[in-house]
Amino acid sequence: MYESMLSRLALEHHAADAESVARPIECRAGCGTTETAAHVIQGCHRTHGGRILRHDAICRIAVSSLRQLGWSVRQEPHFHTREGLRKPDVVAVKDQVVRCSMRKSSALHRPLTTRTAEK
Ligand SMILES: [Zn+2]
Repeated sequence: MYESMLSRLALEHHAADAESVARPIECRAGCGTTETAAHVIQGCHRTHGGRILRHDAICRIAVSSLRQLGWSVRQEPHFHTREGLRKPDVVAVKDQVVRCSMRKSSALHRPLTTRTAEK
């Protein structure tokens, strides 16, 4: 009797596993998209606040480290350009080299980009 119960439970468990693997899971926050690690970490509205906190913490660490290394650092300066307002996260200057860490304000879920320019 126990053997047949265990066998049936094992089959049901196996069927449930196969079903969950085969079917994509929709985001629990109601985004209408597949819940992937990339979506949860970078795109879901439910984790947006956490992304901002993580981004700001990383910027603080970068600014602190750059200053310790002798860089002159400005955080989120505003530059009015022909293409519009640009607000890089960090602008660091040392020995006539400017390093600028940019984010696209319209798409915070995209990865940060870094540009380097000679002064
Ligand atoms: Zn979502």
